[in-house]
Amino acid sequence: MLENKNPQRTSISQLGEFGLIDHLTKNFEIRQDSTLKGIGDDAAVLDFKDKKAIVTTDLLIEGIHFDLAFMPLKHLGYKAVVVNLSDICAMNAKPTQITVSIAISNRFPLEAVEELYAGIALAANQYNVDVIGGDTTSSQTGLLISVTALGQADESEIVYRNGARPNELLVVSGDLGSAYMGLQVLEREKQVFLVNPQSQPDLDNYTYLIERQLKPEARTDIRTLLHALEIKPTSMIDISDGLSSEILHLCKQSNVGCNLFEEKLPIDPQLINTCEEFNIDATTVAINGGEDYELLFTIGLGDFDKIKANPNFTVIGHITEEKEGAHLITRADTKIPLKARGWNALESE
Ligand code: ADP
Ligand code: MG
Repeated sequence: MLENKNPQRTSISQLGEFGLIDHLTKNFEIRQDSTLKGIGDDAAVLDFKDKKAIVTTDLLIEGIHFDLAFMPLKHLGYKAVVVNLSDICAMNAKPTQITVSIAISNRFPLEAVEELYAGIALAANQYNVDVIGGDTTSSQTGLLISVTALGQADESEIVYRNGARPNELLVVSGDLGSAYMGLQVLEREKQVFLVNPQSQPDLDNYTYLIERQLKPEARTDIRTLLHALEIKPTSMIDISDGLSSEILHLCKQSNVGCNLFEEKLPIDPQLINTCEEFNIDATTVAINGGEDYELLFTIGLGDFDKIKANPNFTVIGHITEEKEGAHLITRADTKIPLKARGWNALESE
């Protein structure tokens, strides 16, 4: 995990807006050839030459998307970048630049914003993207962070959600459900802590799950892997809201149905053990839990041999005609309609 605790508390008002921006951004370097001008002018200037530019943005709000009780600011900065890079990956494009906008209340000292930016800088370094601008403003209460990511791709490489066709295979990278269960573990520990602040959480049995929740990664490697295998997915989406929700997006936009097989779902052993402890069904978690940031895509049957032995990929089902609908086929061989029970920020619980 990302450690760095700074006990000092410097008031942001001492620096002023421009002093703060300068302080936060002075160490960002430019790594991408496509960045002609980064931070420091009225706008950034980019040159993608013969490539297409891919753009995506996300807004994260304290109390809605994150809880600072168990989300360290450095992790939050890292995650805010990663979730955007994941969307660029889902287009089969290469992430190249980000902008970062923040609104902060006076409850946060300079050291807190430095922690946030340490996470942003770590992610920018890890994924080789340039921080080319942003905006800084104050907020009445909570913290808001909005990241915009840019990427590039040849037009012929770009993969949309709408290209899946009947008989194709449904494939997922990595494993599913762990980030959701990591959140359940952290929320349980928070409740224990509220009752007894002296309690020391023992999280050894949940390290993978918590890492998946607090430090998710974008699958920038998948584009390279697929390219090397000479596979271009026919459709693709990243798994942010949960597998069933994302499958339904692919099916709807491609006008197809699908069969998803319970026995094929890639689930980490730690997830299975923790689900038993929490008395939750691991399949439900794998299908409905969000924030895995893995990629879900479809490929032609002819590409099956290229991925069947690859540990990065699991074939979890196949595409059908639209009229057949989207179903989960359980281990007991019953057919259950897939529902979008994914995480939804606008849904009241
Ligand atoms: P303007 O008044 O034109 O909005 P600013 O003074 O807000 O300009 O920003 C100055 C420069 O610093 C710009 O390049 C802007 O993109 C960048 N910037 C401002 N805030 C941030 C931030 N939080 N993170 C990264 N870059 C920032
Ligand atoms: Mg500004």
